[in-house]
Amino acid sequence: MTTLRNIAVLGATGSIGGSTLDVIARHPDRFRASVVAAHRNVESLVGLCMVHRPDLAIVADPTLERELARRLHAAGIRCETASGMDAIATAAAGPLCDTVVAAIVGAAGLESTLAAARAGKRLLLANKESIVMAGPLLLDALRAGGGSLIPVDSEHNAIFQCLPDGRPGELGRCGVRRLILTASGGPFRGRTRAELAAVTPDQACRHPKWSMGRKISVDSATLMNKGLEVIEAHHLFNAAPDAIEVLVHPQSLVHSLVDYVDGSVLAQLGNPDMRTALAHALAWPERVASGVEPLDLARTEPLHFESPDLDTFRCLALAFQALREGGDAPAILNAANEVAVDAFLAGTLPFLSIAELVESVLTELPAQPVVDIQTLAERDQTARSVARRLLRNAC
Ligand code: NAD
Ligand code: MG
Repeated sequence: MTTLRNIAVLGATGSIGGSTLDVIARHPDRFRASVVAAHRNVESLVGLCMVHRPDLAIVADPTLERELARRLHAAGIRCETASGMDAIATAAAGPLCDTVVAAIVGAAGLESTLAAARAGKRLLLANKESIVMAGPLLLDALRAGGGSLIPVDSEHNAIFQCLPDGRPGELGRCGVRRLILTASGGPFRGRTRAELAAVTPDQACRHPKWSMGRKISVDSATLMNKGLEVIEAHHLFNAAPDAIEVLVHPQSLVHSLVDYVDGSVLAQLGNPDMRTALAHALAWPERVASGVEPLDLARTEPLHFESPDLDTFRCLALAFQALREGGDAPAILNAANEVAVDAFLAGTLPFLSIAELVESVLTELPAQPVVDIQTLAERDQTARSVARRLLRNAC
């Protein structure tokens, strides 16, 4: 008999949140969205509550809780409400859920991701920024909490599927030589630096294969997304930087590969739709339908692979550099990138300057060891201040 999983969907109004709720709704005998949380979009949140009937709806912005409660009441929905980032973290660790889908975007997701890990929940991690920032602390929290982490990021989910069951942290003993992360190359694959000088946020967000939120779309266009994923893979699978390779694969059908010492290379394939990774993570170790079209290889365009252009897409090289530097360098990289992407989306920073800004912040703040979460949060804030100062001076 399958037990009903009570799932907290954090970032419920986003792209991953929507895909998660779609899979949940297909399996009412197995899954239930018991908690939904979002930033400010009360209207969407109320709409989700009408469909999914959670026990608790949380809005991160405290000024909007009354409106949330009023609208739920007007719609005749009996559902508790709460507000604030602390309330999201408390719910992630609380009795209303056994599973947490961490799908808030950016460093804002760290507190609730850590809370779920400490509380021993089944943690479905989409919020890659939290593991990039605080990898060792998050893994410690997981060990202390005794729960499990199932990667949702499609590449890491693919690698998880290609590794022997339950031993994601023992690559050497499993005979793994390399992890190969595939990258679509984003909307600007093949362009020169000169051609990228004047690209707009809308062009950067027009991803050829994936439909995603705006921040990760820009990260995909700069290849910072792949850089963050290299750091994510390092922590999730205990892989040395030299054992992680990036391969550009514009069709986005091979989601990543594992190269074994005997010459076998295992890959996970599927249509580019996050519901596959989410269905896998929600049901693991079982399998459930996701709603994704079956892959028909006889009809797909030929599969192509090439090396990334690290000179044009500097962000990927910077992420490798931060990973090798260690300590809090990945957290600094992430913070600077969040400020830079915000400025690019606001139209105040040119596309190519995203990498320049990140590099300047990394140079100004040499890595320090990661001691605890408070120190890390301070360093995150320092990196943001330095990035904003450099931005002001550049304008
Ligand atoms: P999105 O912008 O579509 O959604 C973000 C969600 O986070 C929204 O529900 C928003 O309300 C919420 N949010 C934002 N700031 C918040 C705050 N301060 N407090 C509480 N909630 C807040 O983003 P997305 O594309 O769904 O991505 C979410 C995360 O998943 C990111 O970390 C991204 O890197 C990762 N991810 C996304 C995809 C994808 O296909 N979209 C794939 C892999 C990994
Ligand atoms: Mg990914």
